[in-house]
Amino acid sequence: MIADLRSDTLTRPTEAMRQAMAWAEVGDDVYAEDPTVLALQRQVADLLGHEDALFTPTGSMANQLGVRLHVAPGQELVTDDLAHVLRAEMGAAAVLSGISARSYPTVGGLLDVDAAMTLAVTDGGAYQVGTSCVVVENTHNFGGGTVQPLESMQELHRRAHERGMAVHLDGARLWNAHVATGVPLADYAACADTVSVCLSKGLGAPVGSLLVGSADRMAEARVWRKRFGGGMRQVGILAAAGRYALEHQLERLAEDHARCQQVAQAVVAVRPDAVDPTAVHTNILVLQVAPAGWTGADFIAAAGERGVLGYATGPGSVRFVWHLDVDDAQTDHAAAVLGELLSSRD
Ligand SMILES: *Cc1c(COP(=O)(O)O)cnc(C)c1O
Repeated sequence: MIADLRSDTLTRPTEAMRQAMAWAEVGDDVYAEDPTVLALQRQVADLLGHEDALFTPTGSMANQLGVRLHVAPGQELVTDDLAHVLRAEMGAAAVLSGISARSYPTVGGLLDVDAAMTLAVTDGGAYQVGTSCVVVENTHNFGGGTVQPLESMQELHRRAHERGMAVHLDGARLWNAHVATGVPLADYAACADTVSVCLSKGLGAPVGSLLVGSADRMAEARVWRKRFGGGMRQVGILAAAGRYALEHQLERLAEDHARCQQVAQAVVAVRPDAVDPTAVHTNILVLQVAPAGWTGADFIAAAGERGVLGYATGPGSVRFVWHLDVDDAQTDHAAAVLGELLSSRD
């Protein structure tokens, strides 16, 4: 048996999703004439309580459009040191938009408003780089799928605005935060000027993300999207997958969370120092394997030989992610294999 837990981006479209895609109504979206894209944008803007939304090929492009709107070339953004926007977007903010960045150290990806505010420079004059945007990620990917407390996000929004800074929310997995906590998507999204969301992670669409924000900002983002090479044509074919996913595959994220927690509990029963199950909030399980005598790479190789695929996130840590294409039997198998490996070197 194979449990492919490398990422929640691995899901393949279901038969029903493919049907929805095949028969989607389409038009030229560069002319804003694709009815399925327009419907998806309206739906996601409404869900998140913002005026408008813009479909993008990737979450990275949605993030890069967001920060581009808030930060002029030569200015900076502030975020945490595990943020996707810093670590996994290939320096795009610097390369494409002339944006520099500084970050505060985080434990588990959790937002630290005081640290962000201490780093931010809003009165630098002609001497120091000015900070114009704070980026927060919810849930936090490299932090281990952690959910940001709504109160911290509200505090960040208030304090950033007091100092004239914008907030961009990297909500690639905001769906997971919503399903895990029951906090409405719009309550999280109200804490930011722009929000990116991905359809291609746990929701199970093959491609697609959106940026949401004010109508003015989305009009500007539309220009930058074209400039970045992201103006697409009859892309309703892809938007239809997103609409299908929102209707049929949002609430089921709870199953991924439950399976991930099941394995966290199984692991901690044999190796209490490998993971704190209370820090496993959603569908991402990060294990510390060094105390059990493993390097991350060796552990991943051994698990892979037994059909459990994940990846090493550091010299002594590994990551496993639950998604639509992982069922109970594969979860039981993963729990057994990870437990066995973690106790094998005692
Ligand atoms: C996946 C992800 C993105 C976007 O990634 P793409 O591969 O560009 O779609 C952005 N932020 C976070 C936190 C992610 O996990």
